[in-house]
Order: sequence, then C-alpha cells, then structure tokens
Amino acid sequence: MSELADLYQEIILDHNKRPRNYREMPECTCSAEGNNPLCGDEVKVSVRLDNDTLSDVAFQGQGCAISRASASMMTGKTKGRTASEARALSGQVRDMLLGPEAAPPPEVGDLAALSGVRKFPARIKCAMLPWHTLEAALAGQATATSESGD
Ligand code: ZN
Repeated sequence: MSELADLYQEIILDHNKRPRNYREMPECTCSAEGNNPLCGDEVKVSVRLDNDTLSDVAFQGQGCAISRASASMMTGKTKGRTASEARALSGQVRDMLLGPEAAPPPEVGDLAALSGVRKFPARIKCAMLPWHTLEAALAGQATATSESGD
C-alpha cells in the first residue's frame, strides 16, 4: 500500500462520510471545543456523565477526514466507559501515534486505522484533536487545542 492509501484507509473514509454520534447534545453534563489551527479543524465534544460513566458522547464541527474519523470512532469507543477508562484509551491512542513504533494494542480496535498518520506528523494533531477535546471536557475545561498534552 502507498503511504497515502495507508492514511486514508476505508474505515477512515467511511467514518468521514457517515460520522457516528454527530449531533448536538442539549442534555450534556460537560463539553469542550477544540481547534487545530494548522489544519483548520474545529470540533466540539459533548459528554453526558452519569456517576463517572460516559453514558453518551457526541461531537460536532468541521475538519478534515482524519479529525472527523478520529472523533467519530472516539464517540463509539468511549461511550459506556468510565472517565478514567476514556482517559486511558486516549493515552493509548497517543502512544500509538506518537510513541515508539509498535503493533497497536487490542484495546484501540478500529482506531488502529489511524496509525497511518504516524508518517504524517502534521496529521497527528488532526487525529489527536478530538481526544484532547474529550480530555478537556472531562477535566471541566471549555477549550482545547491540538498543542495541549503533546
Ligand atoms: Zn485536520
């Protein structure tokens, strides 16, 4: 596979075209907005926390295929988890994209499709933006940028 084909795997194209949990959540208990000025990605992540469990996760915004697919997959993977499990998953995604090259851990599931961005440093920020934004929301912060936490 070429590097670009690696980057735009079928699953990423599918999530970009039909993002899951792309909606407003008026009943959310916390939310944050993130932006990645390098690419122009903007994302708003909304979470409904019930006793420390993310009972609902949704996102909105505009951005490139990588940021949208990452956000879409994130909502599906974090829904039903506790806040600390969601943070741990975020750390695993970060390690997969920024840590030493290694096989993606099984916990990340479909998110392994994002590992193609490793070869495109500018796009790592696109893939991480929704996760930074989710972490900001869980921490009670209103905003996140692609620079935080790297
Ligand atoms: Zn982007």
